Amino acid sequence: MDVETLLRSKGQEVASVRPDQTVADAVVMLTEKNFGALVVSSDGQSVDGIVSERDIVRTLAQRGPDLLEDSVASIATSEVSTCSLTDTVDALMSQMTSGRFRHVPVVEAGRLVGVVSIGDVVKHRVAELEETNEQLNSFISGVPR
Ligand code: AMP
Repeated sequence: MDVETLLRSKGQEVASVRPDQTVADAVVMLTEKNFGALVVSSDGQSVDGIVSERDIVRTLAQRGPDLLEDSVASIATSEVSTCSLTDTVDALMSQMTSGRFRHVPVVEAGRLVGVVSIGDVVKHRVAELEETNEQLNSFISGVPR
């Protein structure tokens, strides 16, 4: 399966935050949208960075509650690993495992078109395994003894 098919089944809503918005703004968006990360983008199309719950927790421990008034840009990861619609879900799983992150923005022709989380990938993998299991069960029960 490719990323395009996965995105079609999960929906293409992308939550982005501007780099000049505050960490408090990001916290509100993460909570309201129930997402684990936001793409940092000045125009909603380019990927300027990514900020995840983990960045907020880590810098909260370092800077204390004043962090909430700091800019998103001050805590975001600027080197973002992205994927394209034609990448396979298997390749995406390797990308997440080797990069040790749980979110990958999907970029097509330089434009942000979606975000895939590890939850989306796991859901897809479980569905795939269930299907294989059903096929094996019907194969076994169909074999004459
Ligand atoms: P996550 O596991 O996605 O919550 O992110 C863990 C760390 O990796 C955080 O510092 C994120 O800013 C960073 N991160 C998340 N996704 C990506 C990505 N696609 N590319 C680069 N860094 C990322």
